[in-house]
Amino acid sequence: MAIFYPSVADSGDARHDSLVRESNGMTLVDLKLHERPSPNNDARAPDAAIDTLVLHYTGMKSAEAALERLCDPEASVSAHYLIDEEGKVYRMVPEQRRAWHAGVSSWAGETDINDRSIGIELANPGHEFGYRPFSEPQMGALEQLATEILSRHDIPARRVLGHSDIAPSRKQDPGEFFDWRRLARRSIGIWPEVVAQPRQGTTLGPGDTGMAVGEMQSALAAFGYGLAATGEYDTQTTDVVLAFQRHFRPRVVDGAFDPETDAILRALLRMVM
Ligand SMILES: [Zn+2]
Repeated sequence: MAIFYPSVADSGDARHDSLVRESNGMTLVDLKLHERPSPNNDARAPDAAIDTLVLHYTGMKSAEAALERLCDPEASVSAHYLIDEEGKVYRMVPEQRRAWHAGVSSWAGETDINDRSIGIELANPGHEFGYRPFSEPQMGALEQLATEILSRHDIPARRVLGHSDIAPSRKQDPGEFFDWRRLARRSIGIWPEVVAQPRQGTTLGPGDTGMAVGEMQSALAAFGYGLAATGEYDTQTTDVVLAFQRHFRPRVVDGAFDPETDAILRALLRMVM
């Protein structure tokens, strides 16, 4: 038996008169990029392959404030692109350069995520200033931009990630309002459409210890999360489970590894192994 998650209604692609083409099964209107160069970038390592796409929210009161910060040499942060809530796309750092968006992070054993990734910021006040759903124009522009990025680089679907996936103890973005399922339908990232009925089982939670905790940690690490199999459900483990739920079970984000969370993780592992 399968569990079906609440469906997100297809709102249809934006239609425009000109410059319409087909890519990845979707109609693309040529994306208009607004140049807003940031000095905050450096060279990628000579052998660095771009194999990861990281999605963020800005976590600032306005898109303009975020653009200013991402261009401020003092702040030493940047991203390749920013998409505001009207769907306007700003190009800040050329893709061949290394932007500074990931910070201390880890995925699948790699720790210099900036070196191998492209970063997109979505304007949203975030959990600190009034987190709200991402607008339709913003999501539509993101679908187009991400589709183009994935056509230019060899980025596997499993390596389209949220900032919270690669830095679970520091970051919550893009957060539980972000519609990963919608993106996965455009082959941008993965989503477990069919999940086996969770086994009747125990829920693991903070403070628990033992082999079951170690197995859970190993499974999360096998998927990519930076987590050691210590057998102790410590703070770091809770942070990773929260990040996993924010991405793949946003309906309930509570940090407890319940049978449904377990079933979703198993479904994902079957998709990527
Ligand atoms: Zn971020």
